[in-house]
Amino acid sequence: MFRKILYPTDFSPSAKGALEYIKKLKDAGTEEVILLHVYDERNIEIHWEVESELHPDESIERAKHDVVKKMLEKSYAKLKELEDEIAHLNFKTELIVEEGIPYQKIIEVAKQNDVSLIVMGSHGERGIVEKLFGSTTGRVIAHGDTTVLVAKPRNGNNH
Ligand code: ATP
Ligand code: MN
Repeated sequence: MFRKILYPTDFSPSAKGALEYIKKLKDAGTEEVILLHVYDERNIEIHWEVESELHPDESIERAKHDVVKKMLEKSYAKLKELEDEIAHLNFKTELIVEEGIPYQKIIEVAKQNDVSLIVMGSHGERGIVEKLFGSTTGRVIAHGDTTVLVAKPRNGNNH
């Protein structure tokens, strides 16, 4: 039923909680897991300001390119750690790091890979718990065509 799962993560504890559900879904027939991180292109301005102080001589474009490259590499390494964590379950896995607006890329990757289920956290790195769920999750549900499992952190011990 849930043969191919897309797991989008911003590496927050809430997203980590969602990974626990994927481990359980092995028994529900899941064979394939795509782990996806989207480097939010809107963050470049923040990361760039910090980095530009460290490298004042570099041209702006060159320095921006370096910052993005570094962020993408770091993200790939973090995805690998998560992949290691589910390795014993023998899913077929794929790691994807993309640059863009997170909810748009999540919907795009789900469509392109014909996934049967998206498993994600109700909240993310901003984690304002008063909100029902974060804006990435809300937009994936609203604008995408794929069924979504939204993991609530407070149910962390219940699955
Ligand atoms: P907001 O971003 O709206 O201020 P938030 O950060 O608490 O609030 P979301 O961004 O909606 O909440 O995060 C919910 C879930 O969406 C995360 O647990 C994760 O599964 C997924 N997600 C969020 N950002 C990304 C990202 N950049 N790449 C991949 N998945 C993401
Ligand atoms: Mn967020």
